[in-house]
Amino acid sequence: MLATDALVIRSVKYGEHDVLLTLLTADRGQMFVCAKGGRSLKSEQLALSQLFTYANMEIYEKNGRFWLKGGSVIQSFYKISDHIESLAVASYMAETVRDFTAEGEPCPSELQLLLNMLYALDKGIRNPALIKAVWEIRLSCISGYAPDLDRCSGCGSENAGFLDLEDGHLLCQDCADRLLLRQGPDGIMVYVHQTVSVKRGALSALKYVSSASPKKLLSFELTDPEEIANFCAVCEAFFLYHVGHGYTSLDFCHDISHVQ
Ligand SMILES: [Zn+2]
Repeated sequence: MLATDALVIRSVKYGEHDVLLTLLTADRGQMFVCAKGGRSLKSEQLALSQLFTYANMEIYEKNGRFWLKGGSVIQSFYKISDHIESLAVASYMAETVRDFTAEGEPCPSELQLLLNMLYALDKGIRNPALIKAVWEIRLSCISGYAPDLDRCSGCGSENAGFLDLEDGHLLCQDCADRLLLRQGPDGIMVYVHQTVSVKRGALSALKYVSSASPKKLLSFELTDPEEIANFCAVCEAFFLYHVGHGYTSLDFCHDISHVQ
């Protein structure tokens, strides 16, 4: 028997009464645990089996599998599901964190970041789109893909408005043209690396989020709608470039942002 603080990042129905849970724990990374009777309204395991529930879980091992015995809820983040945009972003974070963590590999920083972002969504501390962007860039940093945001990597200028997604470096317009522009087969000049343009306010926010302490990640100034949109676009582009694929939960985030 073991007792560990764990966050439910996936909850899948199994058979008529049971639920298969993917848990995120600081010491053991992902754990795959079966909650017997987790779908029954009478089951005390029902509350423990809900997506985004953070609980001290009692788990035992039998026949080579983990089973949930019981536990006590620490934080349920139940208000997230009150707002479709918050729920979409939380679902995206739960899906993406599975790519950045593994069974048996400790992940205290990833778990702490996810808990902080779920707390922010639950309490409505900031716009869900901004919370999503902070998640993307900070998770990239934790995973060793921190962008170099100091100055233009070509000439040292502080006036650098492009982020080279491949190298993670900033470039000014002149250096981007000099270093990356090549003539394509059809005669049209194209950048050989994928780049995104970064506005000044978005760059300040990126710098802040890359280095802030975990509990102050959302305490940056960014109010101009164009700067916010740019910040979100840069974070998503940088994140997806390194992941190399999309997510169905991300498509859903985009779908509802177009509806609203
Ligand atoms: Zn330059």
